[in-house]
This record gives sequence, C-alpha cells and structure tokens, in this order.
Amino acid sequence: MERELEALTRAGLRRRRRTVAARSAARYTVDGRPTINFASNDYLGLADHPAITDAAIRGARRWGVGSGASHLVSGHFAVHEELERRLAAFVGCAASLLFSTGYMVNSGVIPALVGRGDAIFADRLIHASLVDGALLSRADLRRYPHGDLAALEKALAASRAPRKLIVTDSVFSMDGDIAPLPELLRLAERFDAWLMVDDAHGFGVLGPQGRGACAQAGLSSERIVYIGTLGKAAGVSGAFVAGSARLIEWLLQKTRSYIFTTGSAPLLAEALLAALDLIEEGDARRDNLARHIGALRAAKVDRAELLPSTTAIQPLILGDNARASACAEQLLEAGLWVPAIRPPTVPEGSSRLRISLSAGHTQEQVAQLIGALQTLKV
Ligand SMILES: *Cc1c(COP(=O)(O)O)cnc(C)c1O
Repeated sequence: MERELEALTRAGLRRRRRTVAARSAARYTVDGRPTINFASNDYLGLADHPAITDAAIRGARRWGVGSGASHLVSGHFAVHEELERRLAAFVGCAASLLFSTGYMVNSGVIPALVGRGDAIFADRLIHASLVDGALLSRADLRRYPHGDLAALEKALAASRAPRKLIVTDSVFSMDGDIAPLPELLRLAERFDAWLMVDDAHGFGVLGPQGRGACAQAGLSSERIVYIGTLGKAAGVSGAFVAGSARLIEWLLQKTRSYIFTTGSAPLLAEALLAALDLIEEGDARRDNLARHIGALRAAKVDRAELLPSTTAIQPLILGDNARASACAEQLLEAGLWVPAIRPPTVPEGSSRLRISLSAGHTQEQVAQLIGALQTLKV
C-alpha cells in the first residue's frame, strides 16, 4: 500500500479531501479560507435553502430520524410513498422507486434488468456507478465511442442477445454535453432494447419546470428507464428510478441495493417534497443559471480549451495532471474553489478544471471567476 500510495503521489493522482467548516449559499470556508464554491452540483442553490431545512426539521419532529428497517420490512413511511408519487408524475412516468443514493440505483437496477447472456451497450463516458452496475450484472458490456450513434447501431445490429439495454448519461458529468436522446430512443425501438437514461445532471435543471432531459427532448416511452438523483439540483440526497408500473414492480422485487439496505430517513423525503416545490417554481433560478453559463461562454477565457457545453458543467481541459492541480491551487489562493478532475474519473491526458455554475452564484462571483481564469498562469 505504501509503495502504491507513493506512486499515486508521484503521478499527481493522490486524492485528498478538503473540509468545509462553514457555508452560506456559494460561500464556503474551506481549510480556514473563505472561498466561492464552483465545485458543487448544487445547480439551483437549494442545498441550504431555509424552506428545505425547515421541512427537514418538521420531518424529524414528525417521523424521528432513522427509518429503522429496509423499505420492504418496516422502513417505508407515508412520506416516502407521497414523494415517489410526486417524482413519477413530475418526470411523466407511471411510477417510481426511491433509493438512498444514485450509486445504489445504478449499481442495483442494471443487474435487475439484465444478466448473463444479455447485452449492455454503453457510451464510453457513462458514470462509474453505471459501469459498476453493468459489471455486477454479468451481461456482456460493449462500450461505444462517446456519442457515436453509428457504432452503437452496428453493435445493436450484430447482437443476438435476448435482452438488450442501452445505457447513457443525459448530461455527461465531466464533459457537460447532452446525449442525443431522441436518436438513442429510436435505436432502442428499432432493436427492441431498453434505454436507461441517467439524468443526475438534468433533473431539476433541464426541461419545462426542471422536469429533466427526457421532458426537454419531449420523449416518453415505456422503454425508458429514467434515473434522477436528488443530491444535485434538488439539494438534498437520494435518487429514484421511474418508468412503467410494471417496471417499478419488477425492480421492487429484484433490486438488491433496494432490498438489502435500510430505508432512507423519512425526514429526507419531507425535505425533498419541499425541494420539488422549489424546483417546480424555479424558472427564475434556472434563468439565473442560464445567464451565468452565457457569461462564462462569452468571456475570453481560452476558448480552445473550454469544452463546448451548454449546461452548468463547464470543463476547462488542461491535459496534464500536475498542470490541472496547479491551476486549481492558484484559483483556491484567489478564493475560488474549482476542482481538478484527474484519471481515473476522466481519460488519461484529459485532466481538467470542472467548473460548475449555480443559480446560487451572484453575477459578481461569476465575474470574479472569469477574471481569475483569464489570468491563470499555466
Ligand atoms: C452523481 C452521479 C451519480 C451518483 O448519484 P449519487 O446520488 O451522488 O450517488 C450517478 N450518475 C451520475 C451521472 C452522477 O453524476
């Protein structure tokens, strides 16, 4: 371990946590220093919203803290039930199932849908939790080059697998670009496959009232297995899978990461109901976020290196691990917290600063970031 940890250090790949001592909106005190946080997925600035905090407190008073057992034993409360109904309706599906985290949805739902002898077709850049679910399923995993519909079509056409599952992120978490969902659904229909859409970075942000990437693309189909996560734009914690009533009933019976774990705290469901209200009424927040994205894209930051993203995720590619880390340090010294993302989270040679913008930022804070990026010494 010592030897390999040293090797990680030498390669500029040793990770360490920074500890937050206090926060208020986008202002975070980290390692004793006041910063503006551009490292969070709190896209709507809801993570410390007073209405959500109050709902959590009300929830704790009403239900206590722990759920005490798994959902299938005695840990399923009326507020979980209400939240599942609201989440399903919000994303235009018949039913949904609430989990404690998105990692648990993705690592559990894929093995519940496909197994040995089946085939999974996944974009090269899908989230690690989907990769882990695919490996756990023991189905044959084929990864197509990022966004390459022709390669996907060819692989689907060549497959004799009895069950096929196409897996994609809606918004890719480290690149910020959006998957071609209508084309993916057409291929799923043509080749009789499921289409799993991980909308971790679209839920709450994209589409009318923040109903997500499928709503934005106007898609609805019983082939879609929709995944939303609730720790990003929703500002709380948790995740859900939504789809047809039959799909959800199946997953309730078969998903090990749902069955063999304690139910999420009911106070979180109470907080999430309040978060959903704010998301539904959140056009002003989404407009604010769009203005920040526009401002950053319009600025003369080294545009050649800023990936072509229209979402809150704005990656600045630096390539080298040490260079990415040095830039992040420089920004931190200027009071701007922007994470350096390195392999294995992103492919070798594509280390980057992952800037994430939020409705919780002020125009002045975004202007300060732009100024610092323009004077980065790399
Ligand atoms: C964050 C993320 C997840 C995991 O969700 P958690 O609720 O944080 O476990 C899954 N998929 C994608 C694309 C993500 O970005």
